[in-house]
Amino acid sequence: MTDQMTYIQLVGRPNGFPTADDFAFREAPLPGLEPGTALVENLYLSVDPYMRQLMDEVWEFNTPLEGRTLGRVIASADERLKVGDVIRHRYAWRTHSLVPAEEAQPVNEYPGVPLSAHLALLGNGTGLTAYVGLTRILDVRPGETVYISAAAGGVGSAAGQIARLLGAGRVIGSAGSPEKVRHLVEDLGFDAAFDYHDGPVAEQLAKAAPDGIDAYLDNVGGDHLEGAIENLREFGRIAWCGGISGYNGEAAPVRNIDDVLGKSLRLQGYMVRHHLDAREEMEARLVPLLQSGEIVSEETVVDGFENTVSAFLGMLRGENTGKMLVRVK
Ligand code: NAP
Repeated sequence: MTDQMTYIQLVGRPNGFPTADDFAFREAPLPGLEPGTALVENLYLSVDPYMRQLMDEVWEFNTPLEGRTLGRVIASADERLKVGDVIRHRYAWRTHSLVPAEEAQPVNEYPGVPLSAHLALLGNGTGLTAYVGLTRILDVRPGETVYISAAAGGVGSAAGQIARLLGAGRVIGSAGSPEKVRHLVEDLGFDAAFDYHDGPVAEQLAKAAPDGIDAYLDNVGGDHLEGAIENLREFGRIAWCGGISGYNGEAAPVRNIDDVLGKSLRLQGYMVRHHLDAREEMEARLVPLLQSGEIVSEETVVDGFENTVSAFLGMLRGENTGKMLVRVK
């Protein structure tokens, strides 16, 4: 076993799009076990859009970073964690982590389900976020027309498949390239999809949903939210999951926000951390379908901890299909 670990710290604050120079790689001896903790060898790291927001002020320079991580316990000083256990935790951007037992989330390993899926289709910030958005926030009903933005990403690709399971009548997605648009329709069961670079979202959505939409899972904000509001039917619902178009700068203004009132729409934001109790229900529904191949855990896996920063920057540029993950080694 190595006695060294590698970790990444923030050393610069981006003005606009971040660069690799905003981060520095460091080496240190492995931390010693303390009572109530376990030493974890990290297997997969999740690089997420919200991290770009944290770079602006929340993340401090030269201190440990956080993020969703999957790791295996290699030494333990707490009876709740055994050597070999696979856990989720948030002591991220490092090859090894000292994790307090009360902050470790045990992972149910299922036959035929790859470990990476526990940060993707079964991950809190991916499949669970999509599941909660569609079931608890939008309450999608059979036959309804649902629109999902950033549909080829982690949350979006899970949401499209889950909307289908819930019986949505028509599922529409938008994404950033013709290849992604094709993938949504040909492989992920979307009924229609469009590339948001090809014209105004409102116009493209109107073509894809001539009778309007009932529910919108918003991952992008700005012109996507405006386009959805324009196409929502009266009493339609919006789940405000994220707003990635505004993370590297200003999102486009939503000029028709008054229509939320005029059309009696419901616009509700949500954070998945307030809905972790939905995990059991989500796993009961999704795991058998994942095992039978009826749904897939969409992932782009970048190999090597040394590529963590480029994976993060690539995700912000849309280089991922499904959840962007780093396989630590
Ligand atoms: P993701 O969708 O896998 O990756 C981000 C994607 O955003 C990129 O692949 C890119 O795809 C798209 N994108 C980047 N810039 C864009 C822009 N200016 N306009 C439109 N699309 C753009 O990321 P994720 O982890 O699944 O997160 C998706 C959303 O869910 C984010 O808004 C995130 O903040 C939110 N989220 C919310 C919660 C919660 O608790 N509410 C939890 C997790 C995630 P294209 O090629 O399509 O441009």
